[in-house]
Amino acid sequence: MDRPPVGQVQDLASLAKLDETILLEEIKERYTQDKIYTYVGDILIAVNPFKDVGIYGKEYSARYKQIKQSAHPPHIFAVADAAYQALLGRGGRQPGNQCILISGESGAGKTESTKLIIKQLVELCRGNTQLEQQILQVNPLLEAFGNARTNLNDNSSRFGKYIQLKFNQGHLRGAKISEYLLEKSRVVRQNPGEESFHIFYYLFVDEQSSQLGLGEASSYRYLTNGGQHVARQLDLLTQQKADLINAMDLVGFTDQEQANVFAMVASVLHLGNINFQVNDDDDSIHVTDSNGPVRVAAKLLGIDSSEVEACLTCMVTVTRGEYVKRNYNRQQAEDAREAMAKAVYGRLFGWIVNKINCLLVPYDLKLNKGFTEIGILDIFGFEDFAKEGGKNSFEQACINLANEQLQFFFNEHIFHMEQEEYKKEGIDWTEINFVDNKPLLDLFLAKPIGILSLLDEESLFPKGTDQSYVDKLTKSFSGNTYFTKSPQTTKPVFSINHYAGKVTYTAEAWLAKNRDTLPPGVPELFQSSSNELVKTIFRGQMTRTGSLALQGRRSTSHKSKQRRSRLTSSGPDAAKRKITVGAQFKNSLGILMERMMASTPIFVRCLKPNYMKQPGHLDTQFVLAQLLYTGMLETIEIRRKGFAVRPSFVHFVEKYKILKDLKLKGSSEDCVSILQSARLEGWRIGKTKVFLKYSHVEQLTELLDRMA
Ligand code: ADP
Ligand code: MG
Repeated sequence: MDRPPVGQVQDLASLAKLDETILLEEIKERYTQDKIYTYVGDILIAVNPFKDVGIYGKEYSARYKQIKQSAHPPHIFAVADAAYQALLGRGGRQPGNQCILISGESGAGKTESTKLIIKQLVELCRGNTQLEQQILQVNPLLEAFGNARTNLNDNSSRFGKYIQLKFNQGHLRGAKISEYLLEKSRVVRQNPGEESFHIFYYLFVDEQSSQLGLGEASSYRYLTNGGQHVARQLDLLTQQKADLINAMDLVGFTDQEQANVFAMVASVLHLGNINFQVNDDDDSIHVTDSNGPVRVAAKLLGIDSSEVEACLTCMVTVTRGEYVKRNYNRQQAEDAREAMAKAVYGRLFGWIVNKINCLLVPYDLKLNKGFTEIGILDIFGFEDFAKEGGKNSFEQACINLANEQLQFFFNEHIFHMEQEEYKKEGIDWTEINFVDNKPLLDLFLAKPIGILSLLDEESLFPKGTDQSYVDKLTKSFSGNTYFTKSPQTTKPVFSINHYAGKVTYTAEAWLAKNRDTLPPGVPELFQSSSNELVKTIFRGQMTRTGSLALQGRRSTSHKSKQRRSRLTSSGPDAAKRKITVGAQFKNSLGILMERMMASTPIFVRCLKPNYMKQPGHLDTQFVLAQLLYTGMLETIEIRRKGFAVRPSFVHFVEKYKILKDLKLKGSSEDCVSILQSARLEGWRIGKTKVFLKYSHVEQLTELLDRMA
């Protein structure tokens, strides 16, 4: 059989011959022609165009409605359409929950794809409801607070999310967002050339800045720390801010809530400008200017300024019933300041997500039983900042673990479960090998000897340090081929051989990041706020070190004694430790996997064409690397030879008996007679199931349509 002209094939699984060279040729030629999408069976490959390719307008939305996959060129809208049809049980499948899993490196186009899918889903079930409009605004809203410019992507998501759209009888009824691991450290520091979250820059575009006590953006430590402050186009920022406020209005944030949100964001910048001075006489430390940033921050947060100062400069511990005041040194004071700023922002973000969920919860709870859902996963892509001369920290380890987990799920679904089924059903099959990354998941997740478990263990040790942690890792994983210790044993550095390449991690502040504790006294201070929002987001928080902050600088004053008595005291309660960040992340990954296992997955593989975020240029080696580590060649192989659709005899006959004889019951012979009368070739009959390719389902559906 002759190979069709390069770039013409829409489904790579239909190629008679396939290797790396052919695969790349096809994708490259298509990319040159602005055909950024290509199928591999039911999997969609999307190459980021880095320009407007003009294929998302109304006429495209209309075209990709209730279609067969092959009817139109590959498109992200077709994925939305397929998910929606599958949700309703059209096209030969059982109705039920669907999940769309979007993977790819940072900047490959995952978030844009997510937005396009949601846009098309809303088109498909269009009821012109307010809820639909709200749901369309969720992404822009979240991006303002959770996205930032990085070296890899100008609008990089610094958190992961799973959006569940809830349907009832094909109508959109509600939505729920789960967020994963916001990169809080970005609030206080950015890599060179990078920025903080977009929202911070929106504060400065209009008169709101003076209301919030703000001066020039360039005068804030948290916007200039590490990286330099990049002045952005004012008109663009103004437009983005207007869009955000519009989104908040539409989703349902009240004016008061919006004002509170902006005040809290501004307070973070003021907190960052607090400076400290050490008193030479007694080594105590104090805030340089009590009437400066600390006062503005406290005012915006509705808390007492002198108490903020106290919390940042010293702590009081209870030793044998005696209160002992311990002054912080400069480092401790600065750490306390950063911890406070990160906590304010991190909790604010959590509150925003929660608020959105409350506003979008399916309002008619009586319908609850009838909901089916389409979940869309947009997690942070695989990251290696060492390539840009940066460092990989705890956040990157978690992000890359999440990607390992997703790749594992992909392998399970595409290779493992499918091939198991061939064996079980007695289908003649030559095993296709794939790179199993289970050992990497074990390396991270195993108990008690795994990267996260050991981190938890070390975080509990009062004497644990980042170095002692890495020493433990090195000892535990000597001989593990996926783990390499640093050649310099004096540094807390190690490397992991990920499915997507080797990444070197620097374990600086991992213990602190994993514990993520607030300085003593801070939770109590925030709970005393006169601002309802501040109060709410710190509710249920307790100091966990068993210490009390000194409230007010004169420890013997009447006022501070009173305060102490209302503070949560130390003791056994404080020992009920809050769950670590690592453990929490592990839990939420587990829950996510369960949800995904209970749905039919649809995969979208985003590819980044080049490192420079440039349109019209596809770096062959760079793309090949992505195709290889995601197992794309093997995937194409299994989609070419395999049977992606496997209905039971009964289900198959029920669906298609009309093509042959309504009296058919559901035996294997009945299935064969239907398949033969439809003149299909290349299917298989197993012990309990029919094994079909997508093309078969399409042909059968077409026959059904003709009968109708
Ligand atoms: P990821 O979420 O994978 O990190 P994004 O979805 O944020 O990547 O995409 C990065 C940038 O690439 C976007 O800001 C946009 O400029 C561009 N981009 C991505 N997908 C498309 C697309 N389909 N059409 C045009 N530009 C795109
Ligand atoms: Mg993203």
